Amino acid sequence: MIIVLRSGSSDAEVEDVEGRIVSMGYRPHTIRGQLRTVIGAVGDDRGKERLRALESLECVESVTPILQPFKLASREVRSADTEVQVDGVTIGGRRLVVMAGPCSVESRFQLLDVAHRAKAAGARVLRGGAFKPRTSPYAFQGLELEGLKLLAEAKRETGLPVITEVMEPERVDLIAEYADILQIGARNVQNFSLLRRVAEARKPVLLKRGMSTTIQEWLLSAEYVLSGGNPNVILCERGIRTFETSTRFTLDLNAVPVLKKLTHLPVVVDPSHGTGHWEYVEAMALAGAAAGADGLLIEVHPKPEEALSDGPQSLKPDRFAALMRRLARVAEAVDREI
Ligand code: PEP
Ligand code: MN
Repeated sequence: MIIVLRSGSSDAEVEDVEGRIVSMGYRPHTIRGQLRTVIGAVGDDRGKERLRALESLECVESVTPILQPFKLASREVRSADTEVQVDGVTIGGRRLVVMAGPCSVESRFQLLDVAHRAKAAGARVLRGGAFKPRTSPYAFQGLELEGLKLLAEAKRETGLPVITEVMEPERVDLIAEYADILQIGARNVQNFSLLRRVAEARKPVLLKRGMSTTIQEWLLSAEYVLSGGNPNVILCERGIRTFETSTRFTLDLNAVPVLKKLTHLPVVVDPSHGTGHWEYVEAMALAGAAAGADGLLIEVHPKPEEALSDGPQSLKPDRFAALMRRLARVAEAVDREI
């Protein structure tokens, strides 16, 4: 339910309503807007009608049901865009945030080389997988702890905050020591124990869309993180499975305006996994920005032909720099900047 308080309600009144919500067995999520305060009361769907009684309080203007199945993720509860702060970088604000780097951290030289060149081209977050979700158990699984240490070194050298994937609940604490953003991969978008665990981490979470999750299912996954107490969720469209085989996945750019309507959470587009071929990455990166994405996640490798994962979809640093120059013009056309 959404409890809208009358404008000018005092802190004591807000606290009183919060206390009543708790006593009915619901969790209050209070959003203080410029004009008035809104409290989202979430919890067991059964019996939510009891919350309606709050309407009789003088400070309460209205009590209405949240129509969407996802609650805290919904624009109904929070109309203003969420801005996620990552080490001085704002994701979801006016500036488009480009996160770039290799699919996997492979060596000190590879990572530092890409990190410096991606930064020089305008990237503001460094990506790199240390624990890799590979389809085959025989494929390179990542450098693990050594990879995390290299990411930390690259951060020290460049100042770029770091995003890296976490696959298992047991590893969340370790990875959160090194990562500025915890990436949940497409294959784990409905790993609910992992979602509950990252909700407890005090680090922003980038939640990739599963290759066959609907937008509603994806937002319900985001809801696990939000309702678990972590408000800093970034959504990442990375392509879905369709009948089309010319590209690795089908990048669903429809998702960007749909999400912008349904949710206040920032939206990032990953044209690398979305296409699977470096030649198509630039077009879809520009299209993602034009569609209204708040950021892009792009794989860049100094020698894609030698990459241990996702070489065919990785850009060389020079091509990435050229993309960034064009991206600046598209960003301007949609009232953004990079
Ligand atoms: C990745 O970002 O390298 C990755 C494994 O992505 P996804 O989970 O989207 O396949
Ligand atoms: Mn990859």
